[in-house]
Amino acid sequence: MAASVPEGGVCIFCDIVARRAPGHILYEDDTSLAFLDIFPFTRGHLLVIPKRHVDRITDLPETEYAPFLHALAVLCRRVDRLSTHYNVALNQGALAGQIVFHLHFHVIPRYGNANPFGVSPRERLSDEAARSIVADLAEAP
Ligand code: AMP
Ligand code: ZN
Repeated sequence: MAASVPEGGVCIFCDIVARRAPGHILYEDDTSLAFLDIFPFTRGHLLVIPKRHVDRITDLPETEYAPFLHALAVLCRRVDRLSTHYNVALNQGALAGQIVFHLHFHVIPRYGNANPFGVSPRERLSDEAARSIVADLAEAP
């Protein structure tokens, strides 16, 4: 399914869906896409999005809940290879920290006891690091 155009303009995640913007893509099916977060909190921090442009979980048609959760679970299973400890997060609204208004779940692997969320500014993911993570999180042969 093609992404719908967001109301009133450009959306970076729609651009990644349409391959107008670069993304380190991990997974794609008819309705969902997953790719690495470009400012990761930890190694393997990724985002799972519906291809359809909606801002919020409550805007997603109910018929798309199951495929979206399926994609999330597929990626969580792959993240288990890196760490079986991870946060799944959904920020809704600016006050909750949402900065990209295209619905997305974060999956953030956790390593050791360190809290990764206080780090600011976050370091941009290098292409080299991304290649190594994409290899680790690729679909199992
Ligand atoms: P949120 O605060 O939940 O809206 O998170 C948006 C996330 O998208 C942040 O963690 C950003 O680092 C990430 N992000 C923004 N632009 C891109 C991009 N072009 N490619 C990958 N991740 C991005
Ligand atoms: Zn969008």
